[in-house]
Amino acid sequence: MPDVFAELVGQDEAVDTLRRAATAAAGVLQGTAAPGAGMTHAWIFTGPPGSGRSVAARAFAAALQCVHGTGCGECPGCHTTLAGTHADVRLVVPEGLSIGVTEMRALVLRAASTPSGGRWQVVVVTDADRLTEAAGNALLKAIEEPPPRTVFLLCAPSTHPEDVSVTIRSRCRLVPLRQPPSGAVAEVLVARDGIDPEAAGWAAAAAQGDVERARLLARDPQAQQRRAAVLAVPRRLTGVGAALDAASALIEAAEAEAEAAVAEVDAAEKAALQTALGAGGTGRGAAGAARGSAGQIKELEKRQKSRATRAQRDALDRALVDLAGFYRDALTAAVGAPVAPVHADTAELAGAGARKWAAEGALRRLEAVLTCRTAIAANVKPRIAVEAMMLALWKG
Ligand SMILES: [Zn+2]
Repeated sequence: MPDVFAELVGQDEAVDTLRRAATAAAGVLQGTAAPGAGMTHAWIFTGPPGSGRSVAARAFAAALQCVHGTGCGECPGCHTTLAGTHADVRLVVPEGLSIGVTEMRALVLRAASTPSGGRWQVVVVTDADRLTEAAGNALLKAIEEPPPRTVFLLCAPSTHPEDVSVTIRSRCRLVPLRQPPSGAVAEVLVARDGIDPEAAGWAAAAAQGDVERARLLARDPQAQQRRAAVLAVPRRLTGVGAALDAASALIEAAEAEAEAAVAEVDAAEKAALQTALGAGGTGRGAAGAARGSAGQIKELEKRQKSRATRAQRDALDRALVDLAGFYRDALTAAVGAPVAPVHADTAELAGAGARKWAAEGALRRLEAVLTCRTAIAANVKPRIAVEAMMLALWKG
């Protein structure tokens, strides 16, 4: 039976650290170890998208709640933590573009209570880089004066001050995760998901080390089609008009993908809220209640809009990463680097590009894609950033 760390692909060093910490934590509970040896109360998991930051944090949370103190994967502590139902594990998944201060204060308050299961109170913040400044300060206060049995697990792309404040960083132990090699990702797809080796190998390479993305690409024909449409972009750039058309197509595809991703949850949330609010009412207090429910509906709509925006940006970002992979393949072909292409299925096209553009031209195009990503991350309107990129890709 695989234990809770089995999902962490190609992360031997991090898994070692976490296993040692879990053992030390169990020792603290039994009074046989002092806090500080292998265990500490605040951790940051960093790594590129898909490297398994939140998977690592959740596995560690499970190991802390495991009745054997190891993360056996079989006991109720492991099970309920991984299923998201453990009473002493709180998972903060920001739905919008940022985690607000109200949410963080409530969380910090609850995390200070005595663990009901007798082990640890664990707070997992899956996107600590999306904390608002005020929320970050509320979290920092809790990390600076931690209740004795509370553990904070933060996940962020990096420890760059833009992702995590220097003060929070300085109070946490760092667990860096690396981009798992595509061979390791393919192995997991074959062993755990029963995907055939050839499809697994293709998907793992195309996903550039992102396990979830690889799994989706191997299984979901729509995800395959979206990727194919993105990789058709370089061939379509034959003039200014075509470049602007390609920009529109990319934006609209991201919008459609995002809409499909959030539609179901949005509808369910709205229905649940309407049920909770009842169908109006009369008499004393009804007017006040109506005002209150209008506020709640507005609040929900605001949250949903923010989530939709984020889903769109995430979809667009995946497309840009695919596109960057193509120009990276052209660049490595132009310089004759002995490395495998990211996109085996468009390697020939990338090779043709390499002959036409030479290394400098391929590099300029790769930079145009990366500049577009940075611009969108810095809140430039996606359409403007993508149009500028397409024109740069066409002109070279
Ligand atoms: Zn267990």
